[in-house]
Amino acid sequence: MEKNRELAKIFDRIADFLEFKGDSIYRINAYRKAARVIKDLPEDIEALYKEDRLKSIPGIGEKIASKIQQYFEEGTIQKFEELRREIPEELMVLLDVPNLGPKTLRLAYQSLGVRNLEDLKRAVKDGSLARLPGMGPKKVDKIRKGLEIFLRGQERMLLGEALQIGERILGHLSPLAIRISLAGSLRRMKETVGDLDVLATGDRHNIIQGFVETPGVTEVLAKGETKASILMDDRQVDLRVVKEEEWGSALQYFTGSKEHNVHLREMAKERGLKISEYGVFSIETGDRLAGTTEEEVYHLLGLEYIPPELREDRGEIEAAREKRLPRLVGYDQVKGDLHVHSRWSDGTADLEELAREGARLGYEYIAITDHSRSMKIAHGLDERRLEEQIKVIRDINSRRIGCHLLAGIEVDIHPDGSLDLDEAVLKELDWVVASIHSHFHQDATERLLAACRSPWVHCIGHPTGRIIFSRDPYPLDLDAILREAAATGTALEINSHQDRLDLNDIHARKAQEMGVKLALGTDAHHLGQLWMIRLGIGVARRAWLESRHVLNTYPLEELLALTKKGIRRK
Ligand SMILES: [Zn+2]
Ligand SMILES: [Zn+2]
Repeated sequence: MEKNRELAKIFDRIADFLEFKGDSIYRINAYRKAARVIKDLPEDIEALYKEDRLKSIPGIGEKIASKIQQYFEEGTIQKFEELRREIPEELMVLLDVPNLGPKTLRLAYQSLGVRNLEDLKRAVKDGSLARLPGMGPKKVDKIRKGLEIFLRGQERMLLGEALQIGERILGHLSPLAIRISLAGSLRRMKETVGDLDVLATGDRHNIIQGFVETPGVTEVLAKGETKASILMDDRQVDLRVVKEEEWGSALQYFTGSKEHNVHLREMAKERGLKISEYGVFSIETGDRLAGTTEEEVYHLLGLEYIPPELREDRGEIEAAREKRLPRLVGYDQVKGDLHVHSRWSDGTADLEELAREGARLGYEYIAITDHSRSMKIAHGLDERRLEEQIKVIRDINSRRIGCHLLAGIEVDIHPDGSLDLDEAVLKELDWVVASIHSHFHQDATERLLAACRSPWVHCIGHPTGRIIFSRDPYPLDLDAILREAAATGTALEINSHQDRLDLNDIHARKAQEMGVKLALGTDAHHLGQLWMIRLGIGVARRAWLESRHVLNTYPLEELLALTKKGIRRK
C-alpha cells in the first residue's frame, strides 16, 4: 500500500503545479480526483497494475491509467518530472497558506522571485508584496494573517488545548449526530496534537452545517458533501461524516497511529484480508466482512479490542493476539489528586474551597502540596507556616465539609540532595512530594537518588523537569532513579499538568515494569486546572498501567496504609 500513498501524492502535486500555472480546472480536478481515489483504494495499486486491472478502478480513466503504468514501468511520471523542472516544488507548499491564492503566488514568484516560505515571509515583511499590481495593504494584511495561521498550524498543540477544542465541538454536534467521536492523536491522548479529527455518522447535511456553525469558529476552510474543515482558536479541525456501516473501520483508520495501522494491514494481508477506512474485505472474493464497529474489525483479525491509547505499535498487537492486553486504569477510577497548590503558596484557592471542589468532583481526597521555603517567589512555606497549615487542614477534615485533605508539601530538593524542610515537620505529613525547581543544568541524578532514600519522601514530583515546547529534561540517569525508587518504595509522579506530562508515557511504562508505583497530580494552582487529571490518566493508559499501579486509585485508608508501609521499608 506504500505505492498507493506515493502515487496519490504525485497526482496531488501535479494538480498543485497545474493550479499554479492557471491550467484548466477540469484537468486539475481530474488529477485531484485520481489522487483521492488511489489514496482511498482498499487494494494495493501495484497488484492491480500487475493484473492489468487499472482501468477497472472507478474514477480512473484511460489517461490516468497510462500514467500509473508509466510510474511502474519507468519509476516516475514524465509529466510530473517536467513540471518539477519548471517550478520549484517547495513553492507548492505555499498553496496551503490561507488567503494566498495561486494567482497571487504566481505573481510573487514571477515578479519578486518568491520560491519558498522564507521568501514569502520576507516579501510580506519588507512591503514588496504590497507594491505588486492589484495588491493593497488590506490584501497583504489578510495574507499576513494567513501566514501566521499557516506557521502555527505547522506546529503541534498541547493535548490539553486540543481536548478542550475537541470537547466544545462534540458538545455542539452530539445532538445532531447518531455517532460522533474524536479521532487521530487526540483520541490516542498523545501529549501533543497536530490537526484535530472528528468523525460522525448521521444526516450529513445537518452535521456539516452544524459543524461550520459551531460557536468559536473563525474560518471555514472547506465545506463539502461528507467533509469540512474549520479553524477554531486558530487550529484546524477536520470533520468527516461516514456511513453508519463504515463507522468502525473509519474510526479505526482515522485514529491511527500510522505505525499501528501499517502493522495491522500487514497482519490482515497474511489472513487474506484487506483493511481500509471502508471496512475489512476478503482479498479473494472482495466481500466486505466487517467494519460497523471497531471491535468487529479487531476481532476479525483475531485480536482483542485495543484501546486507542495503546495504538502505537509498541507491542499491543502481539499482546492482543495472545489475549494479554493490560486492563487499563479507567478515567473514572481515580479517587483523588496528589499534587495541588493552595493560596498558602502560589495557588489561588483556599483550603476549604479545595475540599468542596474535590467533593463536587467525586474525589475521596486531595493532597495539599504547597511549595516549601526556598521557593521564595512562590511564597513557599517554612516549618512554622506549614505547622499552621496542618492544623487548618485537620480542622477542615474534622468538619467533614467536603473531600478529605491530605496534609502534604512539595518540598524542594537542594542542589546537594538535602530537603528544604526539617524532618520534624516532614514526618507529621500524610504526603510528601519532593521536586527540583533550581539548577536545571546540573545533573539531577544524585539529587533525586538522595530524595528517594529519604524516609519522609513519598513521591518524586515531575521527575524529569521537562516542560513541553519550552524546556528539556535536566541531565538525568533515569534508570538509576527508577531502580532506587523501586528499592525504597518511593512513588514517581505522572505530573498531569498539560505543560508537563512528566513522567511521559514511555518512562511511566518503564517505571511500572521495574516495580515503581505511579502517582497522578495535576499541580493545579487554580480550581480550573483540576480537570487535567484526565491528561495524566491518558498518559498512564498510554503507559499500559492498570489501576493497581496507580496510587490514586486506592481508597483513602489503603492509600495511607500503602504510603506508610513505603516509609517503614526505607
Ligand atoms: Zn513543582
Ligand atoms: Zn507543584
